[in-house]
Amino acid sequence: MNGHFSNDALRPGTSEAVCLGPYGDPSDGMDCSSTARFQVLRHRQPVLLVCPVHLGPSLLMADGVLWPPQLSLIR
Ligand SMILES: [Zn+2]
Repeated sequence: MNGHFSNDALRPGTSEAVCLGPYGDPSDGMDCSSTARFQVLRHRQPVLLVCPVHLGPSLLMADGVLWPPQLSLIR
């Protein structure tokens, strides 16, 4: 533990997005709390926000990812 984690990640004025990787499903039990750096466009699904570690896996395994991948750097 370094410092304290609190719920203020979503406070107004803070636009840090959290990684939803590797599958874009928060209920998959594989939560990642890293800051998302990429957004991956998906077919008929919300964009998938992922950290660098999960960028590769999410492109290959998340649902609805366009191919070839269409992604952009968000921060
Ligand atoms: Zn991640």
